[in-house]
Amino acid sequence: MSERPEAPEIEFRSDVTVELVRSSAADSDVLFAARVSTQGEQTLAAAADGSEATGRDRGLINYLMRDRHGSPFEHNSMTFYVQAPIFVFREFMRHRMASYNEESGRYRELRPVFYVPSSERNLVQVGKPGAYQFLPGSAEQVELVARETREASVAAFESYQRMLDAGVAREVARIVLPLNIMSSMYVTVNARSLMNFLSLRTMREGTHFPSFPQREIEMCAEKMENVWQELMPLTYAAFNANGRVAP
Ligand SMILES: Cc1cc2nc3c(=O)[nH]c(=O)nc-3n(C[C@H](O)[C@H](O)[C@H](O)COP(=O)(O)OP(=O)(O)OC[C@H]3O[C@@H](n4cnc5c(N)ncnc54)[C@H](O)[C@@H]3O)c2cc1C
Repeated sequence: MSERPEAPEIEFRSDVTVELVRSSAADSDVLFAARVSTQGEQTLAAAADGSEATGRDRGLINYLMRDRHGSPFEHNSMTFYVQAPIFVFREFMRHRMASYNEESGRYRELRPVFYVPSSERNLVQVGKPGAYQFLPGSAEQVELVARETREASVAAFESYQRMLDAGVAREVARIVLPLNIMSSMYVTVNARSLMNFLSLRTMREGTHFPSFPQREIEMCAEKMENVWQELMPLTYAAFNANGRVAP
């Protein structure tokens, strides 16, 4: 059996990473796609972006959003690199209108980076299914969550290492690792599927259909939303003006 390198140091994080790695996404993509409907000609050149847009352009995007003519919002693409705990990826990948590629626990040894809730994260659940509210924990609860999460992560990683050291395959040894281990993936969406994701994975006042997402996937959603609003400001404004309903 070959000698294994020393186990890497265990890290804890309370944040997630979201980076835009590639995009082809602008308000003009919505306009040219919508206008072929009435003009039947190539409408690319006439489509304006952001501050170039006329009142008519804004009106058209708003009308498409309000009346849920969704397909013009599909002619664009955004690829994000995401690092988040596996329990977030489980929720993320329920969104089928996206493409995913994630790091493999069979082909590589997983890095010991674990998510631990920050002391600001609300810990106490009140209310009923579908309308939960989360309130701050007591000092004792904050300390307990941090300690238990760290201890469980360390114990699990040591167990993983013992199995790897004994020559057990990665795909078997990894089964002891907890859901709070960080993973990484690329996810590619278009604006329509992103709006569906944001409508379900963010909680905002005044939305037409309120949602109650887990805070950690909401942290990812908020970062994606910040990127998207820069790329497609008119579409973003229309999404908000129409109750954050995906068209
Ligand atoms: C707060 C919250 C709690 C949740 N709790 C649970 C839970 O307890 N258990 C659980 O299993 N899931 C749960 N989910 C996941 C949820 O049921 C959805 O799977 C997830 O939100 C993805 O939504 P989506 O299907 O609209 O997205 P996508 O899969 O991206 O689909 C986008 C849209 O495409 C259409 N579409 C896609 N696939 C189909 C299809 N096969 N047939 C017809 N139309 C389709 C639909 O219009 C859909 O809205 C929860 C989600 C949220 C936000």
